[in-house]
Amino acid sequence: MSRPFRHLLDIESLTRGEILTILGLAQKMWEVSERSVKKVPTLRGKTIVGLFLEASTRTRSSFELAGKRLSADVINISGSGSSTSKGETLLDTVKNLDAMSPDVIVLRHSSSGAPHFIASRVRCAVVNAGDGTHEHPTQALLDCATMMKHKGSLEGKTVAIVGDVAHSRVARSNIHALTKLGANVRVAGPRTLMPVDIGAMGATVFERVEPAITDADVVMVLRLQSERQEAGLIPNTREYSRYFGVNSRNIELAKPDAIVMHPGPINRGVELEPELADGSRSVILEQVTYGVAVRMAVLYLVAGGTLDEG
Ligand code: ASP
Repeated sequence: MSRPFRHLLDIESLTRGEILTILGLAQKMWEVSERSVKKVPTLRGKTIVGLFLEASTRTRSSFELAGKRLSADVINISGSGSSTSKGETLLDTVKNLDAMSPDVIVLRHSSSGAPHFIASRVRCAVVNAGDGTHEHPTQALLDCATMMKHKGSLEGKTVAIVGDVAHSRVARSNIHALTKLGANVRVAGPRTLMPVDIGAMGATVFERVEPAITDADVVMVLRLQSERQEAGLIPNTREYSRYFGVNSRNIELAKPDAIVMHPGPINRGVELEPELADGSRSVILEQVTYGVAVRMAVLYLVAGGTLDEG
């Protein structure tokens, strides 16, 4: 069965088969990125607009490279350079962009639900590049691609997600993706940074890092999101690092071949010890590499390709 893949707004509404199909397509796209000429004509004549109304390095540049490797025309607009800084509403900005007939708008926004809100009001496809604390679907897809490269099937594997879960759209998207792919998901962090509904999403909640990472196949460390922090949630970063940081001592509790992941940007020495970030267990830069391939697959699908359900 196949259905048109109109938008990519979240992982929650995807099936396991859809996730695996995107990942399979990403694998083919990855091969394009490995060639000396990294370009195929697949999206020639298509237009992609990146609207990044919140800071971004990896996501923004990899969506742009992904579009260009598929031969689409890509433009990027950032918050400070757009009329939102003159008081224009998001909907007005997006409707004006839509009037220029792009095929895809890739939106990053600080409000949870912003991509869903605009998706029903424009003619083009919408891809969520991170909305507030809600979801970051392409990050979870690239994370799964990286985990599967190292671990094969994720069925029965244990993935520990550690840190500021409350403010992490990366954690939410990954919990949805990983539970659909059959992994055992554990989350650990201070009680003040743990959302109450997280257990209902299928993750096992730990208040301390050590039991959460014991025998884990994957340790995914989250950034402490200082820009979304209300006062008083953590005493200070030194104490946070002492109790919730992942380091070369506590990582020994994980499986001997456990990999260490981080979505970036890293607060070095806060949530993750620099030696571990740069060490042999780290797959952090591979995550970035897979980001381009996964975004190529997603852009291909929303710009007109079909998605076969497995
Ligand atoms: N880059 C990821 C995001 O935009 C992770 C982070 O910022 O902590 O959500």
